[in-house]
Amino acid sequence: MNENEKPLTDERWQAIVSNDTAYNDRFIYAIKTTGIFCKPSCKSRIPKRENVRIYANAKQAQYAGFRPCKRCKPTGERLPDQEWAAIAAQYIDNHYTGPLPLQTIAEACHGSPYHLQRTFKRIMGVSPSGYVQKTRVAKAEQLLASTTQSVAAIAAAVGMPNVAYFITLFKKTTGYTPVEYRLRGSLNEMGEVMENGTGE
Ligand SMILES: [Zn+2]
Repeated sequence: MNENEKPLTDERWQAIVSNDTAYNDRFIYAIKTTGIFCKPSCKSRIPKRENVRIYANAKQAQYAGFRPCKRCKPTGERLPDQEWAAIAAQYIDNHYTGPLPLQTIAEACHGSPYHLQRTFKRIMGVSPSGYVQKTRVAKAEQLLASTTQSVAAIAAAVGMPNVAYFITLFKKTTGYTPVEYRLRGSLNEMGEVMENGTGE
């Protein structure tokens, strides 16, 4: 617990669970997994208790690196769309290995799916689901290049247990099948070794 944090007592937890407005000026709660903080009365989905951090006020939560919820506006100001999109992108970066429908991302980021879809696309130039796909393909590229894991294992590791769908998406995005991509990488490496070998 950092110095500004307060304990999550049962009373405070009860206030969060019941969205009790009477506690709004007594504390705010932050959610470790998303980096967002809320008033006790916020109507967003109730976080897991172990991810909740309690602060006396918004200032301390901000000082600890959390950002205000777009829905309950604990600082009284509207969270800029850029910051909200960044929170959603960060959430995707941290959760792409599991199922990630728009609804889940929106709930975690304390907004409506419709609003997130529009805002994210406008700021990031790609929809949330497009960003999820890009993230998964980029991670798969890394794993193909740096490990000997099977394509099926890599597909599962990047949150796409349906291998056929994974291969289709990978090819559509990179122009290569996963196997071609890996082979291409090792051919390049061989080429470099040979070049280095002839140099000296
Ligand atoms: Zn909130």
